[in-house]
Amino acid sequence: MDVVDRQPNLIRHLPNRPGWNCIACTEPWPCEVARVEVPLAMPDPIQLAMFLWGYLEEFLLEHQTGAFGEAHERFLAWSR
Ligand SMILES: [Zn+2]
Repeated sequence: MDVVDRQPNLIRHLPNRPGWNCIACTEPWPCEVARVEVPLAMPDPIQLAMFLWGYLEEFLLEHQTGAFGEAHERFLAWSR
């Protein structure tokens, strides 16, 4: 399943590619708005974690040299 299929329409602040900045406000994604908007659109913590994990995984695939810990902080740790 592609990440695109999992994106609820409520979320406007999503990452562009390959830059991984927000398509709405150009801040590094997840931007401040996304950190509010995404959990609101996904009240189920498991769904939220899976959604964010999907992006984390794609980010790591695109940035083979990136540190996992740093990417985990950016994409997932803030949502806990
Ligand atoms: Zn944004």
